[in-house]
Amino acid sequence: MIIAIDGYSSCGKSTIAKGIAKELGYTYIDTGAMYRAVTLFCLQNNSIQQNEINEFLLKKYIDTLHISFVYDAQTQTQQTYLNGVNVEHEIRRLEVANWVSPVSKIGFVRQKLVAMQRELAAHGNIVMDGRDIGTVVFPHADYKFFITASAQIRAQRRYDELLAKGEQVNFEEVLHNIEQRDLIDTTRTESPLTQAEDAIVFDTSNVTREQQLEWILEKIRK
Ligand code: C5P
Repeated sequence: MIIAIDGYSSCGKSTIAKGIAKELGYTYIDTGAMYRAVTLFCLQNNSIQQNEINEFLLKKYIDTLHISFVYDAQTQTQQTYLNGVNVEHEIRRLEVANWVSPVSKIGFVRQKLVAMQRELAAHGNIVMDGRDIGTVVFPHADYKFFITASAQIRAQRRYDELLAKGEQVNFEEVLHNIEQRDLIDTTRTESPLTQAEDAIVFDTSNVTREQQLEWILEKIRK
């Protein structure tokens, strides 16, 4: 069974997806982490320089990238690996967030990651979150949810998370990043963020994390 969870940046998708996976014993796949890992690779390997993405260079390397997820039993969290190195902490930084949507617009990046995502899901029950899971990656997913929340609330949640991780950020910067990502993600030509016709829409603006999970689980159990 495949459960697809799409929606805007920082609206609680990954917390919901992780909760469902834990509750049902499914595998969770965070596709945003995959786009972030490619972006980190660009930042570390001169494919982003002078405010520009060098697509020619990235294309040369894209097939050499290996992205995987490893469950860390000690912290009970899923860690993202890029070419065998744990990059979980680095991919969450604001610098990566500032570049991830421009990188995600590139057609050959999407083709590569969509193929990887289908491969990762080939064996077993999956909960996958992202922007195009119910529309492009798995248009025949068994369940599709589309999560929204106001930009102000999403920015506040992300700001609190970054502060808790010890990043020096200001609220305006975080809000700007979220608004920019929304704009690029919804207007790009290659698989833009859009609600699948058969998705169940859920606005999490005024709902606690526990209530969000319960609401979705109830829909699945039904
Ligand atoms: O989910 P997260 O906020 O970590 O995603 C980071 C970025 O990766 C998004 O803003 C979007 O640009 C891109 N993304 C995407 N398609 C997906 C998942 C993420 O374009 N399936």
